[in-house]
Amino acid sequence: MLGLMQNHPLLISGLLDFAARYHGDSEIVSRRVEGDVHRTTYAQVRQRAAQCAHALDALQIAAQDRVGTLAWNGYRHFELYYAVSGSERILHTLNPRLHPDQIAWIINHADDRAVCFDLTFAPLVKAVAKRCPGVKHWIALCEADTLPAELAATVAGVLSYEALLAAQSSEYPWPVFDENTASSLCYTSGTTGHPKGVLYSHRSTVLHAYAAALPDVMNLSARDAVLPVVPMFHVNAWGIPYAGALTGAKLVFPGPALDGKSLFELMRDEGVTLAAGVPTVWLGLLNFMREQQVRLPALQRTVIGGAAAAPAMIRAFEEELGIHVLHAWGMTEMSPLGTLCSLKNKHLKLDKASQFALQVKQGRPIFGVDVRVVDGNGADLPWDGKSAGNLLVRGPWIASDYFRSEAPSPLQDGWFPTGDVVTIDADGYIQITDRTKDVIKSGGEWISSIELENIAMAHPGVAIAACIARPDPKWDERPLLVVVKREGATLDRDELLRFYEGKVAKWMIPDDVVFVPAIPLGATGKMLKNRLRDELVGGKPS
Ligand code: ADP
Repeated sequence: MLGLMQNHPLLISGLLDFAARYHGDSEIVSRRVEGDVHRTTYAQVRQRAAQCAHALDALQIAAQDRVGTLAWNGYRHFELYYAVSGSERILHTLNPRLHPDQIAWIINHADDRAVCFDLTFAPLVKAVAKRCPGVKHWIALCEADTLPAELAATVAGVLSYEALLAAQSSEYPWPVFDENTASSLCYTSGTTGHPKGVLYSHRSTVLHAYAAALPDVMNLSARDAVLPVVPMFHVNAWGIPYAGALTGAKLVFPGPALDGKSLFELMRDEGVTLAAGVPTVWLGLLNFMREQQVRLPALQRTVIGGAAAAPAMIRAFEEELGIHVLHAWGMTEMSPLGTLCSLKNKHLKLDKASQFALQVKQGRPIFGVDVRVVDGNGADLPWDGKSAGNLLVRGPWIASDYFRSEAPSPLQDGWFPTGDVVTIDADGYIQITDRTKDVIKSGGEWISSIELENIAMAHPGVAIAACIARPDPKWDERPLLVVVKREGATLDRDELLRFYEGKVAKWMIPDDVVFVPAIPLGATGKMLKNRLRDELVGGKPS
Protein backbone atom coordinates (compact mmCIF):
# COMPACT_ATOMS: atom_id res chain seq x y z
CA MET A 1 0.00 0.00 0.00
CA LEU A 2 1.31 3.44 -0.84
CA GLY A 3 1.20 6.28 1.63
CA LEU A 4 -1.44 8.91 1.13
CA MET A 5 0.82 11.94 1.07
CA GLN A 6 1.14 14.46 -1.74
CA ASN A 7 3.81 13.57 -4.22
CA HIS A 8 5.10 17.06 -4.70
CA PRO A 9 8.45 17.05 -6.49
CA LEU A 10 11.56 18.49 -4.83
CA LEU A 11 12.61 21.19 -7.30
CA ILE A 12 15.37 23.80 -7.10
CA SER A 13 12.92 26.57 -8.07
CA GLY A 14 11.06 25.80 -4.83
CA LEU A 15 14.10 26.82 -2.79
CA LEU A 16 14.17 30.29 -4.33
CA ASP A 17 10.39 30.70 -4.14
CA PHE A 18 10.59 29.87 -0.43
CA ALA A 19 13.46 32.28 0.21
CA ALA A 20 11.77 35.09 -1.72
CA ARG A 21 8.45 34.53 0.08
CA TYR A 22 9.66 34.15 3.66
CA HIS A 23 13.09 35.80 3.62
CA GLY A 24 12.52 38.28 0.81
CA ASP A 25 14.59 41.00 2.45
CA SER A 26 17.48 38.73 3.45
CA GLU A 27 20.57 40.10 1.74
CA ILE A 28 22.84 38.73 -0.94
CA VAL A 29 26.04 40.76 -0.83
CA SER A 30 28.70 40.41 -3.51
CA ARG A 31 32.11 41.86 -4.08
CA ARG A 32 32.06 42.42 -7.80
CA VAL A 33 34.74 41.99 -10.44
CA GLU A 34 34.60 45.81 -10.67
CA GLY A 35 35.81 45.92 -7.01
CA ASP A 36 32.68 47.49 -5.47
CA VAL A 37 30.21 45.76 -3.15
CA HIS A 38 26.76 45.02 -4.57
CA ARG A 39 23.66 44.35 -2.47
CA THR A 40 20.48 42.57 -3.41
CA THR A 41 17.86 40.34 -1.72
CA TYR A 42 16.24 36.96 -2.27
CA ALA A 43 13.10 38.73 -3.51
CA GLN A 44 15.08 40.63 -6.13
CA VAL A 45 17.07 37.54 -7.07
CA ARG A 46 13.82 35.75 -7.78
CA GLN A 47 12.70 38.56 -10.07
CA ARG A 48 15.98 38.60 -11.96
CA ALA A 49 16.13 34.79 -12.15
CA ALA A 50 12.67 34.99 -13.75
CA GLN A 51 13.94 37.58 -16.25
CA CYS A 52 16.95 35.39 -16.97
CA ALA A 53 14.73 32.32 -17.56
CA HIS A 54 12.64 34.32 -20.04
CA ALA A 55 15.85 35.44 -21.75
CA LEU A 56 16.97 31.82 -22.12
CA ASP A 57 13.56 31.02 -23.64
CA ALA A 58 14.01 33.88 -26.09
CA LEU A 59 17.41 32.49 -27.09
CA GLN A 60 15.65 29.18 -27.77
CA ILE A 61 17.72 27.22 -25.34
CA ALA A 62 15.69 24.06 -24.85
CA ALA A 63 14.81 22.14 -21.70
CA GLN A 64 17.78 20.03 -20.57
CA ASP A 65 20.23 22.00 -22.74
CA ARG A 66 23.42 22.79 -20.90
CA VAL A 67 24.22 26.40 -19.99
CA GLY A 68 27.83 26.86 -18.90
CA THR A 69 29.17 29.43 -16.46
CA LEU A 70 32.68 30.82 -16.09
CA ALA A 71 32.13 33.02 -13.08
CA TRP A 72 33.24 33.97 -9.58
CA ASN A 73 31.01 33.77 -6.54
CA GLY A 74 28.55 36.60 -7.04
CA TYR A 75 24.89 37.54 -7.35
CA ARG A 76 24.67 37.04 -11.13
CA HIS A 77 26.11 33.55 -10.82
CA PHE A 78 23.59 32.95 -8.03
CA GLU A 79 20.74 34.10 -10.28
CA LEU A 80 21.93 31.68 -12.96
CA TYR A 81 21.89 28.80 -10.46
CA TYR A 82 18.13 29.28 -10.15
CA ALA A 83 17.21 30.61 -13.59
CA VAL A 84 18.91 27.79 -15.49
CA SER A 85 17.92 24.82 -13.31
CA GLY A 86 14.54 26.29 -12.36
CA SER A 87 13.56 26.51 -16.03
CA GLU A 88 14.53 22.85 -16.56
CA ARG A 89 17.86 23.54 -18.21
CA ILE A 90 21.13 22.21 -16.85
CA LEU A 91 23.57 24.56 -15.15
CA HIS A 92 27.11 23.59 -16.05
CA THR A 93 29.63 25.31 -13.78
CA LEU A 94 33.02 25.42 -15.51
CA ASN A 95 36.23 25.78 -13.55
CA PRO A 96 38.05 28.77 -15.11
CA ARG A 97 41.31 27.79 -13.43
CA LEU A 98 41.67 24.76 -15.67
CA HIS A 99 43.83 24.89 -18.77
CA PRO A 100 41.97 26.37 -21.79
CA ASP A 101 42.41 23.08 -23.70
CA GLN A 102 40.67 21.26 -20.88
CA ILE A 103 37.92 23.89 -20.68
CA ALA A 104 37.27 23.61 -24.43
CA TRP A 105 37.20 19.83 -24.11
CA ILE A 106 34.69 20.01 -21.22
CA ILE A 107 32.41 22.52 -23.02
CA ASN A 108 32.32 20.28 -26.06
CA HIS A 109 31.86 17.10 -24.06
CA ALA A 110 28.95 18.67 -22.18
CA ASP A 111 27.65 20.15 -25.43
CA ASP A 112 26.97 23.54 -23.85
CA ARG A 113 24.56 25.73 -25.85
CA ALA A 114 25.44 28.96 -24.08
CA VAL A 115 28.22 30.03 -21.74
CA CYS A 116 27.83 32.95 -19.30
CA PHE A 117 31.08 34.55 -18.16
CA ASP A 118 32.46 37.26 -15.91
CA LEU A 119 34.51 39.81 -17.87
CA THR A 120 37.62 38.57 -16.01
CA PHE A 121 37.36 35.50 -18.19
CA ALA A 122 37.00 37.32 -21.53
CA PRO A 123 40.57 36.30 -22.57
CA LEU A 124 39.67 32.69 -21.81
CA VAL A 125 36.49 32.96 -23.88
CA LYS A 126 38.50 34.39 -26.76
CA ALA A 127 40.92 31.47 -26.47
CA VAL A 128 38.26 28.74 -26.56
CA ALA A 129 35.30 30.17 -28.52
CA LYS A 130 36.44 29.04 -31.97
CA ARG A 131 37.03 25.53 -30.68
CA CYS A 132 33.49 25.29 -29.25
CA PRO A 133 31.14 25.47 -32.26
CA GLY A 134 28.19 24.10 -30.26
CA VAL A 135 28.06 27.25 -28.12
CA LYS A 136 25.64 29.60 -29.83
CA HIS A 137 25.71 32.39 -27.25
CA TRP A 138 28.55 33.76 -25.16
CA ILE A 139 26.83 35.85 -22.50
CA ALA A 140 29.00 38.41 -20.71
CA LEU A 141 27.83 39.05 -17.15
CA CYS A 142 27.83 42.83 -17.51
CA GLU A 143 25.89 45.84 -18.78
CA ALA A 144 25.70 46.44 -22.54
CA ASP A 145 27.88 49.54 -22.25
CA THR A 146 30.69 47.73 -20.40
CA LEU A 147 30.89 44.94 -22.98
CA PRO A 148 34.29 45.44 -24.64
CA ALA A 149 33.81 46.21 -28.35
CA GLU A 150 36.81 44.12 -29.38
CA LEU A 151 35.29 41.10 -27.58
CA ALA A 152 32.09 41.46 -29.58
CA ALA A 153 34.21 41.80 -32.70
CA THR A 154 36.31 38.67 -32.09
CA VAL A 155 33.78 36.25 -30.55
CA ALA A 156 30.65 35.48 -32.54
CA GLY A 157 27.44 35.50 -30.51
CA VAL A 158 28.57 37.69 -27.61
CA LEU A 159 25.67 39.23 -25.67
CA SER A 160 25.30 41.37 -22.56
CA TYR A 161 23.53 39.59 -19.71
CA GLU A 162 21.99 42.80 -18.41
CA ALA A 163 20.70 43.74 -21.86
CA LEU A 164 19.11 40.29 -22.19
CA LEU A 165 17.36 40.62 -18.83
CA ALA A 166 16.22 44.21 -19.21
CA ALA A 167 13.30 43.59 -21.53
CA GLN A 168 11.92 40.54 -19.70
CA SER A 169 9.08 40.05 -17.24
CA SER A 170 10.06 39.48 -13.61
CA GLU A 171 7.46 36.73 -13.19
CA TYR A 172 8.14 33.25 -14.55
CA PRO A 173 5.92 30.19 -14.22
CA TRP A 174 8.58 27.72 -13.03
CA PRO A 175 7.76 24.42 -14.72
CA VAL A 176 6.88 21.41 -12.59
CA PHE A 177 8.50 18.12 -13.62
CA ASP A 178 9.96 14.91 -12.24
CA GLU A 179 12.32 15.65 -9.36
CA ASN A 180 14.84 13.17 -10.78
CA THR A 181 15.37 15.45 -13.80
CA ALA A 182 18.97 16.62 -14.25
CA SER A 183 19.63 20.07 -12.80
CA SER A 184 23.34 20.76 -12.90
CA LEU A 185 26.63 19.42 -14.08
CA CYS A 186 30.11 19.68 -12.61
CA TYR A 187 33.26 18.03 -13.93
CA THR A 188 35.89 16.58 -11.60
CA SER A 189 39.20 18.36 -11.96
CA GLY A 190 40.67 15.34 -13.70
CA THR A 191 44.09 15.03 -12.13
CA THR A 192 44.41 11.80 -14.11
CA GLY A 193 42.94 11.60 -17.63
CA HIS A 194 40.00 13.61 -18.86
CA PRO A 195 37.66 15.21 -16.33
CA LYS A 196 34.43 13.34 -15.65
CA GLY A 197 30.99 14.94 -15.56
CA VAL A 198 28.83 14.52 -12.46
CA LEU A 199 25.20 15.18 -13.27
CA TYR A 200 23.10 16.23 -10.28
CA SER A 201 19.31 16.08 -10.13
CA HIS A 202 16.74 18.39 -8.53
CA ARG A 203 15.99 15.73 -5.95
CA SER A 204 19.64 15.11 -5.05
CA THR A 205 20.28 18.85 -4.80
CA VAL A 206 17.31 19.61 -2.55
CA LEU A 207 17.98 16.61 -0.28
CA HIS A 208 21.63 17.66 -0.07
CA ALA A 209 20.57 21.19 0.86
CA TYR A 210 18.41 19.85 3.71
CA ALA A 211 21.37 17.77 4.90
CA ALA A 212 23.85 20.65 4.66
CA ALA A 213 21.67 22.79 6.91
CA LEU A 214 21.37 20.23 9.74
CA PRO A 215 22.70 21.21 13.18
CA ASP A 216 25.48 18.61 13.12
CA VAL A 217 26.43 19.65 9.59
CA MET A 218 26.66 23.39 8.82
CA ASN A 219 23.97 24.33 11.37
CA LEU A 220 22.51 26.94 9.01
CA SER A 221 19.68 29.26 9.91
CA ALA A 222 18.04 32.53 8.98
CA ARG A 223 20.27 34.16 11.61
CA ASP A 224 23.45 33.30 9.70
CA ALA A 225 25.51 35.29 7.25
CA VAL A 226 27.40 32.75 5.15
CA LEU A 227 30.45 33.37 3.03
CA PRO A 228 31.41 30.55 0.68
CA VAL A 229 35.06 31.04 -0.23
CA VAL A 230 34.76 27.71 -1.99
CA PRO A 231 33.93 28.67 -5.57
CA MET A 232 30.52 28.20 -7.11
CA PHE A 233 32.36 26.27 -9.82
CA HIS A 234 33.72 23.77 -7.26
CA VAL A 235 30.85 21.37 -6.55
CA ASN A 236 28.26 24.16 -6.32
CA ALA A 237 30.15 25.92 -3.51
CA TRP A 238 29.46 22.78 -1.45
CA GLY A 239 25.71 23.36 -1.79
CA ILE A 240 25.68 26.68 0.09
CA PRO A 241 23.75 28.58 -2.63
CA TYR A 242 20.93 26.05 -2.19
CA ALA A 243 21.14 25.56 1.59
CA GLY A 244 21.27 29.36 1.96
CA ALA A 245 17.93 29.75 0.21
CA LEU A 246 16.46 26.80 2.10
CA THR A 247 17.20 28.54 5.40
CA GLY A 248 16.95 32.18 4.33
CA ALA A 249 20.51 32.87 5.48
CA LYS A 250 22.21 36.05 4.30
CA LEU A 251 24.82 35.18 1.66
CA VAL A 252 28.09 37.00 1.14
CA PHE A 253 29.98 36.35 -2.09
CA PRO A 254 33.67 37.31 -2.25
CA GLY A 255 34.02 37.56 -6.06
CA PRO A 256 37.62 37.31 -7.23
CA ALA A 257 39.21 38.82 -4.08
CA LEU A 258 40.30 35.76 -2.12
CA ASP A 259 43.40 37.12 -0.37
CA GLY A 260 43.48 37.24 3.44
CA LYS A 261 42.94 41.01 3.68
CA SER A 262 39.96 41.15 1.31
CA LEU A 263 38.28 38.16 2.93
CA PHE A 264 38.86 39.59 6.39
CA GLU A 265 37.37 42.97 5.49
CA LEU A 266 34.31 41.49 3.83
CA MET A 267 33.66 39.14 6.72
CA ARG A 268 34.09 41.95 9.25
CA ASP A 269 31.89 44.41 7.36
CA GLU A 270 29.09 41.93 6.65
CA GLY A 271 29.08 40.20 10.05
CA VAL A 272 29.77 36.79 8.52
CA THR A 273 28.99 33.97 10.96
CA LEU A 274 29.99 30.97 8.84
CA ALA A 275 32.60 30.63 6.10
CA ALA A 276 33.64 27.61 4.04
CA GLY A 277 36.69 26.77 1.97
CA VAL A 278 39.69 24.51 1.27
CA PRO A 279 42.67 24.61 3.67
CA THR A 280 45.02 26.53 1.35
CA VAL A 281 42.68 29.51 1.16
CA TRP A 282 42.59 29.78 4.95
CA LEU A 283 46.37 30.07 5.19
CA GLY A 284 46.13 33.60 3.75
CA LEU A 285 43.41 34.64 6.20
CA LEU A 286 45.22 33.11 9.18
CA ASN A 287 48.46 34.90 8.31
CA PHE A 288 46.69 38.22 7.82
CA MET A 289 44.84 37.97 11.14
CA ARG A 290 48.00 36.95 12.99
CA GLU A 291 50.13 39.70 11.49
CA GLN A 292 47.56 42.45 11.94
CA GLN A 293 46.45 41.17 15.36
CA VAL A 294 42.82 41.45 14.28
CA ARG A 295 39.81 39.29 15.08
CA LEU A 296 36.39 38.49 13.62
CA PRO A 297 34.01 38.48 16.57
CA ALA A 298 30.94 37.54 14.50
CA LEU A 299 32.59 34.56 12.79
CA GLN A 300 31.52 31.54 14.86
CA ARG A 301 32.51 28.65 12.64
CA THR A 302 34.27 27.72 9.48
CA VAL A 303 33.88 24.61 7.35
CA ILE A 304 37.24 23.35 6.10
CA GLY A 305 37.28 20.50 3.61
CA GLY A 306 38.24 19.41 0.13
CA ALA A 307 41.64 18.40 1.48
CA ALA A 308 42.85 17.51 4.95
CA ALA A 309 42.82 20.38 7.41
CA ALA A 310 46.07 20.04 9.40
CA PRO A 311 45.54 19.86 13.17
CA ALA A 312 47.86 22.89 13.48
CA MET A 313 45.44 24.93 11.37
CA ILE A 314 42.40 23.72 13.31
CA ARG A 315 44.16 24.60 16.57
CA ALA A 316 45.09 28.06 15.31
CA PHE A 317 41.48 28.82 14.36
CA GLU A 318 40.10 27.47 17.62
CA GLU A 319 42.62 28.68 20.17
CA GLU A 320 44.11 31.83 18.65
CA LEU A 321 41.08 33.21 16.85
CA GLY A 322 38.16 31.63 18.72
CA ILE A 323 36.59 30.28 15.51
CA HIS A 324 35.15 26.76 15.62
CA VAL A 325 36.35 24.51 12.79
CA LEU A 326 34.02 22.00 11.18
CA HIS A 327 36.23 19.56 9.32
CA ALA A 328 34.35 18.12 6.35
CA TRP A 329 34.99 15.48 3.77
CA GLY A 330 33.31 14.93 0.43
CA MET A 331 33.81 14.83 -3.28
CA THR A 332 32.32 16.11 -6.53
CA GLU A 333 30.58 12.76 -6.98
CA MET A 334 28.88 13.30 -3.59
CA SER A 335 27.37 16.75 -4.18
CA PRO A 336 29.83 16.98 -2.17
CA LEU A 337 29.00 16.41 1.52
CA GLY A 338 29.84 13.00 2.95
CA THR A 339 31.01 13.52 6.51
CA LEU A 340 31.36 16.42 8.88
CA CYS A 341 33.06 16.43 12.24
CA SER A 342 30.97 17.41 15.20
CA LEU A 343 31.04 15.88 18.66
CA LYS A 344 28.29 13.80 20.27
CA ASN A 345 26.74 14.42 23.64
CA LYS A 346 28.95 11.78 25.31
CA HIS A 347 32.08 13.58 24.05
CA LEU A 348 31.24 16.76 25.91
CA LYS A 349 32.51 15.12 29.10
CA LEU A 350 35.93 14.43 27.57
CA ASP A 351 38.95 16.60 28.27
CA LYS A 352 39.99 19.15 25.64
CA ALA A 353 42.81 16.98 24.24
CA SER A 354 40.50 14.01 23.63
CA GLN A 355 37.89 16.27 22.04
CA PHE A 356 40.55 17.76 19.80
CA ALA A 357 41.77 14.29 18.75
CA LEU A 358 38.25 13.63 17.46
CA GLN A 359 37.75 17.05 15.94
CA VAL A 360 40.73 16.73 13.59
CA LYS A 361 39.12 13.68 11.95
CA GLN A 362 36.93 14.16 8.87
CA GLY A 363 33.82 13.32 10.88
CA ARG A 364 30.71 11.18 10.85
CA PRO A 365 28.53 10.34 7.86
CA ILE A 366 25.51 12.58 7.44
CA PHE A 367 22.12 10.86 7.32
CA GLY A 368 21.73 9.85 3.68
CA VAL A 369 25.34 8.73 3.25
CA ASP A 370 26.13 5.05 3.91
CA VAL A 371 29.78 4.05 4.23
CA ARG A 372 31.90 0.89 4.24
CA VAL A 373 35.63 0.37 4.62
CA VAL A 374 36.97 -2.64 2.72
CA ASP A 375 40.30 -4.36 2.09
CA GLY A 376 41.83 -5.04 -1.33
CA ASN A 377 39.51 -8.01 -1.83
CA GLY A 378 36.38 -6.06 -1.02
CA ALA A 379 35.94 -7.65 2.44
CA ASP A 380 34.64 -5.35 5.18
CA LEU A 381 37.21 -4.19 7.71
CA PRO A 382 36.37 -3.59 11.38
CA TRP A 383 35.33 -0.14 12.56
CA ASP A 384 38.11 0.06 15.14
CA GLY A 385 39.71 3.37 14.20
CA LYS A 386 42.84 1.47 13.14
CA SER A 387 42.16 -0.83 10.19
CA ALA A 388 42.76 1.21 7.03
CA GLY A 389 41.09 0.34 3.75
CA ASN A 390 39.16 1.70 0.79
CA LEU A 391 36.10 3.79 1.48
CA LEU A 392 32.86 2.95 -0.36
CA VAL A 393 29.75 5.14 -0.21
CA ARG A 394 26.15 5.14 -1.36
CA GLY A 395 23.21 7.46 -1.00
CA PRO A 396 20.65 9.68 -2.77
CA TRP A 397 23.14 12.48 -3.57
CA ILE A 398 25.97 10.21 -4.73
CA ALA A 399 26.70 9.65 -8.42
CA SER A 400 25.72 6.36 -10.03
CA ASP A 401 27.60 7.08 -13.25
CA TYR A 402 29.34 9.84 -15.18
CA PHE A 403 27.75 12.02 -17.85
CA ARG A 404 28.22 10.66 -21.37
CA SER A 405 30.74 8.15 -20.16
CA GLU A 406 31.66 5.19 -22.31
CA ALA A 407 33.25 3.36 -19.40
CA PRO A 408 31.13 0.99 -17.29
CA SER A 409 29.46 2.50 -14.20
CA PRO A 410 32.02 3.02 -11.42
CA LEU A 411 29.70 1.39 -8.90
CA GLN A 412 30.71 -1.87 -7.20
CA ASP A 413 27.58 -3.74 -6.11
CA GLY A 414 25.78 -0.40 -5.81
CA TRP A 415 28.61 1.27 -3.86
CA PHE A 416 30.74 4.13 -5.17
CA PRO A 417 34.49 3.64 -4.58
CA THR A 418 35.83 6.97 -3.34
CA GLY A 419 39.52 6.31 -3.98
CA ASP A 420 40.22 7.34 -0.39
CA VAL A 421 41.95 5.22 2.22
CA VAL A 422 40.37 5.57 5.64
CA THR A 423 39.87 4.21 9.12
CA ILE A 424 36.44 4.30 10.77
CA ASP A 425 36.00 4.12 14.54
CA ALA A 426 33.19 2.47 16.49
CA ASP A 427 31.18 5.73 16.52
CA GLY A 428 31.50 6.08 12.74
CA TYR A 429 34.13 8.86 12.78
CA ILE A 430 36.18 8.64 9.61
CA GLN A 431 39.80 9.58 9.25
CA ILE A 432 41.17 9.94 5.73
CA THR A 433 44.72 8.62 5.76
CA ASP A 434 45.27 9.20 2.05
CA ARG A 435 44.02 9.15 -1.47
CA THR A 436 44.84 5.76 -2.97
CA LYS A 437 47.13 7.43 -5.49
CA ASP A 438 49.04 9.42 -2.84
CA VAL A 439 49.65 6.69 -0.29
CA ILE A 440 53.34 5.78 0.20
CA LYS A 441 53.99 2.04 0.00
CA SER A 442 57.17 1.26 1.90
CA GLY A 443 58.32 -2.35 2.37
CA GLY A 444 54.76 -3.68 2.06
CA GLU A 445 53.43 -1.17 4.63
CA TRP A 446 51.38 1.92 3.88
CA ILE A 447 52.51 5.29 5.14
CA SER A 448 49.94 8.08 5.34
CA SER A 449 51.19 11.15 3.49
CA ILE A 450 48.54 13.25 5.29
CA GLU A 451 49.84 12.20 8.71
CA LEU A 452 53.40 13.18 7.78
CA GLU A 453 52.22 16.51 6.35
CA ASN A 454 50.23 17.27 9.48
CA ILE A 455 53.32 16.79 11.65
CA ALA A 456 55.42 19.09 9.46
CA MET A 457 52.66 21.71 9.46
CA ALA A 458 52.81 21.77 13.27
CA HIS A 459 56.42 23.03 13.11
CA PRO A 460 56.44 26.81 13.51
CA GLY A 461 58.90 27.24 10.63
CA VAL A 462 56.67 25.47 8.09
CA ALA A 463 54.11 27.35 5.99
CA ILE A 464 52.89 24.37 3.98
CA ALA A 465 54.10 20.81 3.42
CA ALA A 466 53.41 17.97 1.02
CA CYS A 467 54.65 14.43 1.36
CA ILE A 468 55.17 12.30 -1.73
CA ALA A 469 56.48 8.84 -2.54
CA ARG A 470 60.02 8.63 -3.89
CA PRO A 471 60.90 5.37 -5.67
CA ASP A 472 63.34 3.31 -3.62
CA PRO A 473 65.26 0.22 -4.78
CA LYS A 474 64.97 -1.53 -1.42
CA TRP A 475 61.60 -0.43 -0.03
CA ASP A 476 59.74 0.36 -3.31
CA GLU A 477 58.80 3.81 -2.05
CA ARG A 478 59.97 6.12 0.71
CA PRO A 479 58.45 9.41 1.93
CA LEU A 480 59.95 12.65 0.68
CA LEU A 481 58.83 15.84 2.37
CA VAL A 482 58.40 18.98 0.28
CA VAL A 483 58.25 22.15 2.34
CA VAL A 484 57.63 25.85 1.95
CA LYS A 485 59.21 27.69 4.88
CA ARG A 486 57.38 30.40 6.71
CA GLU A 487 58.74 33.83 5.90
CA GLY A 488 61.89 34.54 7.90
CA ALA A 489 62.12 30.98 9.33
CA THR A 490 65.58 29.44 9.62
CA LEU A 491 64.75 25.80 9.37
CA ASP A 492 66.95 23.03 7.96
CA ARG A 493 66.43 19.43 6.91
CA ASP A 494 67.88 17.81 10.04
CA GLU A 495 65.90 19.97 12.42
CA LEU A 496 62.67 19.13 10.63
CA LEU A 497 63.41 15.40 10.53
CA ARG A 498 64.26 15.45 14.24
CA PHE A 499 60.81 16.99 14.80
CA TYR A 500 59.29 13.64 13.74
CA GLU A 501 61.06 11.65 16.45
CA GLY A 502 58.59 10.19 18.91
CA LYS A 503 55.61 11.30 16.78
CA VAL A 504 55.60 8.37 14.32
CA ALA A 505 57.40 5.02 14.07
CA LYS A 506 61.03 5.49 13.01
CA TRP A 507 60.54 3.79 9.64
CA MET A 508 57.80 6.26 8.74
CA ILE A 509 59.99 9.34 9.16
CA PRO A 510 60.64 10.93 5.75
CA ASP A 511 64.00 10.12 4.18
CA ASP A 512 64.64 13.64 3.05
CA VAL A 513 63.29 17.18 2.82
CA VAL A 514 63.22 19.44 -0.22
CA PHE A 515 62.62 23.15 0.41
CA VAL A 516 60.73 24.88 -2.39
CA PRO A 517 59.46 28.45 -2.85
CA ALA A 518 55.87 27.30 -3.49
CA ILE A 519 53.77 24.15 -3.81
CA PRO A 520 51.72 23.94 -7.00
CA LEU A 521 48.00 24.16 -6.36
CA GLY A 522 45.31 22.69 -8.60
CA ALA A 523 42.22 24.32 -10.01
CA THR A 524 40.34 23.88 -6.74
CA GLY A 525 43.17 25.07 -4.49
CA LYS A 526 44.46 21.62 -3.55
CA MET A 527 48.13 20.65 -3.54
CA LEU A 528 49.09 19.00 -6.83
CA LYS A 529 51.10 16.08 -5.55
CA ASN A 530 51.22 14.45 -8.99
CA ARG A 531 53.01 17.55 -10.32
CA LEU A 532 55.46 17.42 -7.40
CA ARG A 533 56.09 13.75 -8.10
CA ASP A 534 56.73 14.49 -11.78
CA GLU A 535 59.06 17.37 -10.98
CA LEU A 536 60.97 15.94 -8.04
CA VAL A 537 61.04 12.16 -8.34
CA GLY A 538 60.10 11.41 -11.95
CA GLY A 539 56.45 10.46 -11.33
CA LYS A 540 54.87 7.55 -9.49
CA PRO A 541 54.94 4.00 -10.83
CA SER A 542 51.38 2.74 -11.24
P1 ADP B 1 39.08 16.20 -7.28
O1 ADP B 1 39.08 14.71 -7.25
O2 ADP B 1 38.97 16.76 -8.60
O3 ADP B 1 40.09 16.85 -6.36
P2 ADP B 1 37.00 16.65 -5.41
O4 ADP B 1 36.97 18.06 -5.02
O5 ADP B 1 35.76 15.94 -5.60
O6 ADP B 1 37.69 16.62 -6.73
O7 ADP B 1 37.95 15.88 -4.43
C1 ADP B 1 37.52 14.88 -3.58
C2 ADP B 1 38.67 14.31 -2.81
O8 ADP B 1 39.28 15.32 -2.00
C3 ADP B 1 38.28 13.23 -1.84
O9 ADP B 1 38.11 12.00 -2.48
C4 ADP B 1 39.45 13.27 -0.86
O10 ADP B 1 40.56 12.54 -1.36
C5 ADP B 1 39.82 14.72 -0.83
N1 ADP B 1 39.24 15.35 0.37
C6 ADP B 1 38.11 16.06 0.45
N2 ADP B 1 37.92 16.50 1.71
C7 ADP B 1 38.95 16.04 2.45
C8 ADP B 1 39.34 16.13 3.83
N3 ADP B 1 38.65 16.83 4.70
N4 ADP B 1 40.47 15.50 4.20
C9 ADP B 1 41.22 14.80 3.33
N5 ADP B 1 40.92 14.68 2.03
C10 ADP B 1 39.81 15.29 1.59
